[in-house]
Amino acid sequence: TNTVLSEYGTTIFTTMSALAAEHGSINLGQGFPDVDGPEEIRQIAADGLMNGSNQYPPMMGLPELRQAVAAHNKRFYGLDVDWQSEVMVTSGATEALCDCFMGLLNPGDEVVLIEPLYDCYLPIIRHIGAVPKLVRVEPPHWELPRTDLEAAFSDKTKLLVLNSPMNPSGKVFNQEELSFLAGLLEKHDAYAVCDEVYEHLYFDGHEHHPLMSLPNMRERCARIGSAGKTFSLTGWKIGYITAAPALMSAIAKAHQFVTFTTPPNLQKAVAAGLNFEEEYFSTFTADMQAQRDILAQGLTEVGFKVLESEGTYFLTADFSPLGFEGDDLEFCRHITIEAGVTAVPTGAFYQSDGPTKFVRFCFCKQPALLGEAVARLKAHF
Ligand code: PMP
Ligand code: GLN
Repeated sequence: TNTVLSEYGTTIFTTMSALAAEHGSINLGQGFPDVDGPEEIRQIAADGLMNGSNQYPPMMGLPELRQAVAAHNKRFYGLDVDWQSEVMVTSGATEALCDCFMGLLNPGDEVVLIEPLYDCYLPIIRHIGAVPKLVRVEPPHWELPRTDLEAAFSDKTKLLVLNSPMNPSGKVFNQEELSFLAGLLEKHDAYAVCDEVYEHLYFDGHEHHPLMSLPNMRERCARIGSAGKTFSLTGWKIGYITAAPALMSAIAKAHQFVTFTTPPNLQKAVAAGLNFEEEYFSTFTADMQAQRDILAQGLTEVGFKVLESEGTYFLTADFSPLGFEGDDLEFCRHITIEAGVTAVPTGAFYQSDGPTKFVRFCFCKQPALLGEAVARLKAHF
């Protein structure tokens, strides 16, 4: 038979991490920290395994974590959130995104997305039979294409997917850009799924504002956070969604059938993390900014043209000054095999005809490792 078992490809993160492992390369491709998050959080999770309940927690999440998510929304964004009807815990932001798409989209609905795209959005949206409308921001400035956005929205638009701070570009959408998007949502009576997993990673003078916090956006947005990112525990896969009751009940229906619940000990531990003093969050941001600066400086010395990263774990580098003949994927393979440093090609985050001379490096690593990566690249180029 000619049955096709899967229409899905392999993600660039898996591909490049496997190549990095094969060649003993420093993996600055896939985004994950090389130091685990706070011991206090991990201890609570460990205690929970031995002394707590290991059975199904409530479908919407443990009350203490949902309360902590609501309090975090109030503390950082001034959002008044009812933890019972407006907060749900998921197994990572990845599940949260899947729940939102499954819960909110029907076949034929149009979804506006901004390339470069995080890789899990399109496969699910397409599988549902919804219709993606792609607009793009491009290096080096990642400017918002307002005319294209206006053209992409229509009466059929159900959702906008907005990732800010944005992976892989490092763009943090400013208030003015958000207001523009809010205007389009209102005009077309559409909703937004806001992927804000990097909400605490914005640098220099930039600030993160949830689209949900803008006027008239409270009822139109589902806002997604991730403990993996906020507490440097990417393997835990604890996500949380904040959305008005009407949206939330549709999203929760999907969650019932995707995972139903999420490990209770991890939920309890993340609740404690979200309640941490302000200092945890500001130190986390400042440390990450310092690591960004180390890598940006080093890559500049190697000869890359490093673009500004306003937020996230990532920076983008233009390798054309190095004189390499080949595209971004070939460059990433080359530096993995020949220099022992791995990045991911920026073009992989576009459906087609992406930029070909830019790569994404991850800087959520200890300064010594970043220094070693830079030394290897200097020795090679
Ligand atoms: N969205 C973006 C933009 C991400 O970069 C990631 C993680 N790399 C996720 C979602 C998924 O987060 P989680 O690990 O919590 O599922
Ligand atoms: N979010 C991480 C990145 O962008 C990787 C997640 C994954 O491997 N799926 O690098």
